Parts: sequence; C-alpha cells; structure tokens
Amino acid sequence: MVSNGLLLEESTIDKENKLTHWKQSVPVSSWLFVLGVAEFAVQYVGKFNGKDIQTWVYPRDREKGFTDFAEPTKQVLQFYSDYVGPYAYEKLANIQSPSVSGGMETSSAIFYGENMVTGKYEKRLRNVVIHEIAHQWFGNAVTESTWDDAWLSEGFATFFSMLFQEHAVRNLFLGCTLHLYYPWSRCSNFNPQKTRSVYVFSPKILTSTTIPP
Ligand SMILES: [Zn+2]
Repeated sequence: MVSNGLLLEESTIDKENKLTHWKQSVPVSSWLFVLGVAEFAVQYVGKFNGKDIQTWVYPRDREKGFTDFAEPTKQVLQFYSDYVGPYAYEKLANIQSPSVSGGMETSSAIFYGENMVTGKYEKRLRNVVIHEIAHQWFGNAVTESTWDDAWLSEGFATFFSMLFQEHAVRNLFLGCTLHLYYPWSRCSNFNPQKTRSVYVFSPKILTSTTIPP
C-alpha cells in the first residue's frame, strides 16, 4: 500500500491483513490525499536532499516502470527547488495506477496512468512527470481555495514545466554537441526546432493560446 508522506510501519497481522501506517506531517488539501492498494514492485531510486525518490509499479511492469521513472525526477526536483523553494514533502513516489489516464499530482505520491508505462522513456510520460512534480509546488504546497483560481495549479504547473524543458534542452544541446554526458542513442532524436519551449516576456502569454496543452 502506498500513500502520502512517510511509511512508519508495515506489519503483517495475519494471512489476510496487513497494517501500514503513513504519516503526512505537512498539511495538504483533502483532494490531494491518496491511497494505492495493489501488489507493487518498489524501487528506491535515490535521494534528493535526504528525501527518498521511489517508483511503485505493477510487478509485471517492473523493468519498464523502473526504466521510465528513473529520470528525470531528481533533476526536476533540483530545478524547481532552485527556482522556487524547498520541496515540501517527506518523499516523492511515482506510482502506476488504473485510476487516472494522464497524471494526478497527489502530494508526494503522484499517480500515472497504467498504460503510460512502456519502458521506452516516452516523451508523453516524461512531460507528465515534469508537470505533476511542478504541481507539488503550485497546487499542492500553495493551493487554490476555489475553482475560480485553478490557474494557480494549471497555469503555473504548465509554465514551470516549460521552464524546466527549456533548461533540459539547453543541457541536452550542450551534452549532445560536446558529446560529454549523453549517449548518442538519446541524441539521435534531438532536434531543438521541435521542442515545446517558449520564451515568456509578458504575463499575458499565460492566457495565450500559443501555450501547448
Ligand atoms: Zn496539471
């Protein structure tokens, strides 16, 4: 079972019952609470500022899921932390789920559509990961009180997703050009003309139709 916050206890009570205790020490809105119950394969990917980065996928998708979520979670956390402020929660888990088709930014336990896990490091999943992690700041740590202010979630998450992509493309360009730290297999699809980065000079662009969905 997976939920928000830190796992404090996991005990087998008997053949049919297991006790798990999760502690969410940072206040979150009720719509950001989540429980995931399934057989999971769990990978502890690494740490960011002492906090676990985890991948929870179905056992049948173990290798694919561990590949798909290995990147870019840590780089995204680092970028948003540098740009906005410290990451608020105790851990960050990327979780495969049948309950969503894209992603759901539930605090520190993000759900992704089960069919998005392919093991091919596809751009669509990568973009959703970047977007949902941006929500940990915009929509979660700072949240709207009414639907009238949904822009606080989706506007800023979209904007900061593009900022990260611009940052990543710049690094990819340098890495591929200088062949320093990216394998050619990843560089072969690199075409800066096809990126979705935009330069923002005015807040007006936040309401512009030129921003991709
Ligand atoms: Zn969103």
